[in-house]
Parts: sequence; C-alpha cells; structure tokens
Amino acid sequence: MTNKSSSGNLSGKTALVTGSTSGIGLGIARRFAAEGANVVLNGFGDAGAIDTLQADLAKEFGVQVVYHNADMSKPAEIEAMIKFADDKLGGVDILVNNAGIQFVANIEDFPIEKWDAIIAINLSSAFHTSRLALPGMRKKNWGRIINLASTHGLVASAGKAAYVAAKHGLLGLTKVGALETATTGITVNAICPGFVLTPLVQKQVDDRAAKDGISNDEAKKALLSDKQPSGEFVTPEELGALAVFLASDAARQVRGAAWNMDGGWVAQ
Ligand code: NAD
Repeated sequence: MTNKSSSGNLSGKTALVTGSTSGIGLGIARRFAAEGANVVLNGFGDAGAIDTLQADLAKEFGVQVVYHNADMSKPAEIEAMIKFADDKLGGVDILVNNAGIQFVANIEDFPIEKWDAIIAINLSSAFHTSRLALPGMRKKNWGRIINLASTHGLVASAGKAAYVAAKHGLLGLTKVGALETATTGITVNAICPGFVLTPLVQKQVDDRAAKDGISNDEAKKALLSDKQPSGEFVTPEELGALAVFLASDAARQVRGAAWNMDGGWVAQ
C-alpha cells in the first residue's frame, strides 16, 4: 500500500488507541493517521460502522488501520489485543489509554459493579496495556504512553467517586511510568481534558436537561458555566493535536506530566 503520509511526523510508527471508535479516542486516532502513523483501533460499536471507519481512515491518510475488539475490563482480551498489534503492525510504539466510562451517584448509592467496572476500564486497563507494551518499547528504545485522564484527575465533583478515583490513580500510574523510563527514549504522560461534547458528556447534558426541565442547549451552557471558564467545549481534534505533540520527538523531555486542556477549569 502506498503511504500518502510517509512524510508525516509519525510515519513508520504504530499507534494503539483504546476506545477509538468514538469521541476523543477517534479524534486522536485520526490525527495520528494524518501524521502518517499506522493505527490500531479498539472500542465498541456497530461492526459495519467500524469497518467503514477503518477503510475511510486508511484511504484518507494512506496508512494501515486495523481494529481489535477487546474489552478493556478483561486482562486476557487486552493481552490478545497487544499480540494482535505485534503480529499485524510490528508492535505498539504509541499507546494511548483512552477507553473510559462514567457513572454518577453518591457514594452510598454507588452500585459496586459500577465502581468495579469504572476502576477496571478507566484505570486498571492502562496498567495492563502498559505492562504488555513496555517490553517492546524498551527493545526499540522509543515509545510513547499517553493516558487520557481528566480534570477529574486533579479536582473532584460530587457524584463521581469511581471516576475521580480512577483518574487520580491514572495520574499516579503516569508518574510512576515516567520515572521507570526516565533514562530511556520512552515517555509517559497524561492529558486532562475538560468537557468535550462526546457521547459520554452528551448523557450528562441529557440528564441535566431532564433534571432542571431545560432545553439541551441550555443544559450545555449550564454545564460549561458551572466548570469551564472559556464557555466552550474542548474538541477531539484539539486533543488530537496535543497527543501528536506529546508523541513527537520535540516532546522527549516531557515526562510524567499532566497536560490540561480544559478551557481554564482547574485554573479557578
Ligand atoms: P466516548 O463515550 O465518546 O468514547 C469512549 C470509547 O471507549 C468508545 O470508543 C467506547 O466504545 C470505548 N469503550 C468503553 N468501554 C470500553 C471497554 N470496556 N473496552 C473497550 N472500549 C471501551 O467517551 P469520550 O468522552 O471520548 O472519553 C474518552 C476518554 O476521555 C475517557 O477516558 C474519558 O474519561 C476521558 N475524558 C472525557 C471527557 C469528556 O468531556 N468527554 C473529559 C475528560 C476526560
């Protein structure tokens, strides 16, 4: 296959982005493909739509795009996904731990199975993927691990116990990973987005509209004015551009950092 992006900054690299069938993960996968990286997609969704997405990305950017349907709450499936990336595309150079879910309830009402699922998908999966991808990165003495944390890795919101705990934990894992690879060509960093209007946040908008008896647009404005001083949603494309920077050689001394892209949320 000809590689239209062979001059891209990430040409010749393979990027695995978990949870890349929608939202932020898809935005990041697109930007990596645009920079010439081959991409392993992962996440849930309609099989036909995923086939189309895969074919469209490959055609648009002239890179290889493969898909692996692994559930990030299941370590055995994660192991199979890393093996798939090794077999199909020669290993994982850039690992983006992005898959995530959310559930909102006060601690005393928080279902135990929701707690377990959020910790497994939003936190433990990043340990499992990193553990399995790092040996290959060490062999090449080059690698990038980018963990999608959140403003909720730095500050809290009532009702989000598991999400906040998982994202704070993910920042801890990021720092440990950065220290353990500090003298190598591997970097480990995190991105902390504020509100991005993906399916995950659309549910919050819908819930807010229903609770307050307001329109969808009013609920979006309310959500932003509560938290995000810019009054605008961050976009997956903007987060993709930040991920490309963190994956670049220019960012080789960025290690163990949590990069906010949150319209000013945590500056308040
Ligand atoms: P989204 O719901 O649009 O996408 C989530 C992706 O994860 C989808 O591809 C979904 O199929 C996949 N996924 C969910 N459970 C999975 C599982 N068990 N195994 C494999 N894949 C699974 O969400 P998003 O808003 O794009 O969120 C992506 C990441 O960014 C999450 O980690 C989220 O916590 C974080 N984040 C989102 C926002 C926001 O405002 N949207 C803000 C801060 C951080």
